[in-house]
Amino acid sequence: MPELPEVETTCRGIAPHIEGQIIKQVIIRQPQLRWPVPESLNQILTGLSIQSVSRRAKYLLFTTSSGTMLVHLGMSGSLRIITPGQNAGKHDHIDFVFNDGKVLRFNDPRRFGAVLWTIAPAAEHQLLKNLGPEPLLADFNGELLYSHSRNRKVPVKSFIMDSHIVVGVGNIYANEALFMAGILPAMEAGKISLARYQRLADCIRVILQFAIQQGGTTLRDFVNEAGNPGYFKQQLRVYGRKGLPCVHCQQLLKEIRLANRSTIFCSHCQS
Ligand SMILES: [Zn+2]
Repeated sequence: MPELPEVETTCRGIAPHIEGQIIKQVIIRQPQLRWPVPESLNQILTGLSIQSVSRRAKYLLFTTSSGTMLVHLGMSGSLRIITPGQNAGKHDHIDFVFNDGKVLRFNDPRRFGAVLWTIAPAAEHQLLKNLGPEPLLADFNGELLYSHSRNRKVPVKSFIMDSHIVVGVGNIYANEALFMAGILPAMEAGKISLARYQRLADCIRVILQFAIQQGGTTLRDFVNEAGNPGYFKQQLRVYGRKGLPCVHCQQLLKEIRLANRSTIFCSHCQS
């Protein structure tokens, strides 16, 4: 599933190709995504230029002078820049054709992605307005985690994966950040000290930034027809390593389920 680093990599990969470009046509082959693609999208977007491509949580925001298109990649979505004349495959649901001939193609085999249009400021959209801060911006820090977690009995892993608290900490990154911070995933969020939350906030940032840097090496894939864009190999230290030795102490990693998600940890290094 595309996580925040993949969405950020997508944003950085496609922005230079389409910012400032005028949309010539929108070809919708399959409007049935998570929510129906607006029928009038071609009519709305034709003739508008993309002022900017940005990211909020896992949404890509395409800002125009008339409104904003929100794109979510869902479980399996991808966006890539292609050159004209490349035949559409089975899951290539939408093409955004630009005046310079470039095409932004939305592919989504499982169709949990979304393409929406809003004329209101994007930050006020119902999908965005209640989201917590961006983990890579300054308003996310240990103090925020500490203050929001008081009296909360939820496991700290579920707490940091709650998008009302902070956005973009998916299951992989929650596992990795808690290992790096030395905190047991099942620990009650309300029982963790400010100092440990400061360490955890730093670890979340480091893990996400590292993943984005890794993704940066695959930017060429956004102008390539083949393969998956930006779903780079992570250097994972706990996720997917159940029963393997801890990279620090060699003790075998354990797995529990938290909120029905695979949770891997070292019972020696995390407390
Ligand atoms: Zn260990």
